[in-house]
Amino acid sequence: MIWKAEKNGRYSVKSGYRICVEEVINNDHLRKPGFWSGIWKLKVPPKVNNLVWRICRDCFPTRVKLRSRGINCPSECVTCADPHEDSYHILFHCQTAVDTWHAANVWHLISQFLSQLDNAPDIMFNLLQKLPSDQMERIVTIMWSIWKVRNLKLWQQVSDSTVTILERAKHLLEGWRTANRKQSRTSEEVASVLPNASHLNEGAIPKWSKP
Ligand SMILES: [Zn+2]
Repeated sequence: MIWKAEKNGRYSVKSGYRICVEEVINNDHLRKPGFWSGIWKLKVPPKVNNLVWRICRDCFPTRVKLRSRGINCPSECVTCADPHEDSYHILFHCQTAVDTWHAANVWHLISQFLSQLDNAPDIMFNLLQKLPSDQMERIVTIMWSIWKVRNLKLWQQVSDSTVTILERAKHLLEGWRTANRKQSRTSEEVASVLPNASHLNEGAIPKWSKP
């Protein structure tokens, strides 16, 4: 007897799981149409990609979302006491967010979609499709910072200014970009020193070998 889902013919839980998820169980109801590849193409720290994915997947843990999952918490916005703290409110309606977008000089880019769309996932997909990636990378990192300030207010009673929100986003994105540039330069240097390492891709970490 052989197990066709593995090359070596032996059963593995991993391949069994994959067959269940992809072939046996009908998971069409879980699929949501949208420009998902746009999220993973953004060159931002992974926690920012993850945040955008959560917003688009409609599982961003705002108070309204938590209440819909049976968690007993207030529904008011942590920052401005608006009665309905959902992702649309936090990102595009709350005064903190609007002030931040104005200060970042991108409100005109975002607000063009707000008159046509009323939910955060659709707005995000439109932004991802229509804005250049460097602009979008900055915007989503600022979103992360807006969410961060909301959590700081909730858990540590700290109120950050718009300037601090933007500075935090800038610091995160620039730090991450610098670290990634350094890493790819290091592997280029290694490739030029070691002739047999020239096959290394840019950004790949060279394998350790015995000195
Ligand atoms: Zn608010």
